[in-house]
Amino acid sequence: MCGIVGFTGKQNAAPVLLEGLKKLEYRGYDSAGIAVRDGDSAPVTVKEKGRIADLKDKIGPVENIVGTCGIGHTRWATHGAPSETNAHPHHSDDDAVIGVHNGIIENYKELKEMLIESGREFVSETDTEVAAQLLDSNYDGDPIKAISKTLSQVEGSFALGILFSDREGEIYAVRRESPLIVGVAEGESFIASDVPAIIKYTKNYYL
Ligand code: GLU
Repeated sequence: MCGIVGFTGKQNAAPVLLEGLKKLEYRGYDSAGIAVRDGDSAPVTVKEKGRIADLKDKIGPVENIVGTCGIGHTRWATHGAPSETNAHPHHSDDDAVIGVHNGIIENYKELKEMLIESGREFVSETDTEVAAQLLDSNYDGDPIKAISKTLSQVEGSFALGILFSDREGEIYAVRRESPLIVGVAEGESFIASDVPAIIKYTKNYYL
């Protein structure tokens, strides 16, 4: 089932994301990762096969990942073996779009072929990377327009958490027949696959 967590606010995002992912462990997973950005700097992504504890070991001291906006993921592999490369978050090849994904993009093969023909390079076997690249190919500075166009092209059931590199402090989320909630607190916003990931911070959430 995998888990998605996203946070934007005033506190450091990495501990919120790692703690949230831990609360979603019950959903099962084979790898985990986070992408965090500091202001308008490029998001830093760290991912690892195995447990959240392995990801934490790889990150080291939490001060290694500074930033108040980010997304995190625990993956249950459906497209591509459990591996660091296939773990989320996934970047478009120019790093303009970074995404985490729960579910399946059913027509990912056709979309991937189309994107490769247009010159895009892929590093993973996942359908998720296809979604990130497709979002980027549809992006002209308007995230909602890019997401709407992408939704008209993808088939399947899924939830996505998305960062656009040029949209500081913003997280975008969309879902189709997969769970994803939005939480709101004073000066902070969250996304999550389930309530336990954010309940410590807010009881004000939308299903
Ligand atoms: N289909 C995606 C993958 O294989 C997401 C799987 C999940 O929901 O964790 O990477």
